[in-house]
Amino acid sequence: MDEFEVIKNYFSRGSISDDVRTGIGDDCAIVSPPSGRDLVMSIDTMVEGVHFPKGAKAKGIGSRAMATALSDLAAMGARPHWFTLALTMPETDEHWLSDFSDGLFSVANTHECCLIGGDTTRGPLTITVQVHGSVETGKAIRRAGAQPDDMIFVTGCLGDGGAVLKLMSCDITVRPDAQEYLYERFYNPRPRIQEGEMLSGVASAAIDISDGLLTDLEKLCRASGVGAVIDTDRLPISKLWRESTEDDKALHWALSAGDDYELCFTVPKKHFGVVEQWIKDGRLKATPIGKITNNLDVSVVRHARAYNVESKGYMHFA
Ligand code: ADP
Ligand code: MG
Repeated sequence: MDEFEVIKNYFSRGSISDDVRTGIGDDCAIVSPPSGRDLVMSIDTMVEGVHFPKGAKAKGIGSRAMATALSDLAAMGARPHWFTLALTMPETDEHWLSDFSDGLFSVANTHECCLIGGDTTRGPLTITVQVHGSVETGKAIRRAGAQPDDMIFVTGCLGDGGAVLKLMSCDITVRPDAQEYLYERFYNPRPRIQEGEMLSGVASAAIDISDGLLTDLEKLCRASGVGAVIDTDRLPISKLWRESTEDDKALHWALSAGDDYELCFTVPKKHFGVVEQWIKDGRLKATPIGKITNNLDVSVVRHARAYNVESKGYMHFA
């Protein structure tokens, strides 16, 4: 198979919406951006051996690449429209390509995001996905915007991403059903697109948690020129961990491990009511975990006392 057969057989599928004037096949794609909306875009690369282990299942690599890219759109409150894919692989393996594209399109189609172009090259397995979305003009949620006394929330639960990395490196063992759940969380994280769209116009700032709650919250605080205090007793740690490992380990994963792809967002007082109502109604699965402060520091409190955290999160070049 040459690269054109690869593109034709595995990537010229999935839905194409009316706003795509020219998709795969020309030098560039042409799209019509929706009127009255800002375009929002982001790019993410996954390298074998860095972002997923060697020998990981192709379907999971595809779904994870798409989901983690979409998570950035979610963090801005944007709606996905299109994506491009740069795929570098050592060989053209039909089974691998079929499974990879199944995983990729299962997530892309769920979010009505269509593939409009890309690049295919030979080399060590590396997947780059660029996503394009839109948000009502001026309504994107940025990292900058948090103010002292804003409440800090996270969606879903934290700590599973850290646990699965430990599982992969054989540092922990878990029950078979837990193992299945963890692998699903790693290879098929749910990008919080719907939650992000709800929060546009309500949240003052947001970030998705890819490197760890503390390090990502620190980025949000730095961009906003504020600090934060987090109460560990309120962290939404997976039930699985609260029951089956020592408290400290689960807490460490929730604070620092990353790979959860939940949203961390801040809400000003005037919108507390609406967010609390959404949570009560079950429309938004989120938990208040702390407050924005004016002292430029991200600190952690546990059982009402200061809690020292050794590592705040993942860095590629640390
Ligand atoms: P060019 O040389 O002009 O960059 P290519 O010959 O590399 O174009 O690609 C041909 C067409 O196939 C282009 O429209 C490109 O966007 C698309 N394409 C290449 N690789 C992929 C891929 N992995 N997935 C989707 N589209 C792709
Ligand atoms: Mg060209």
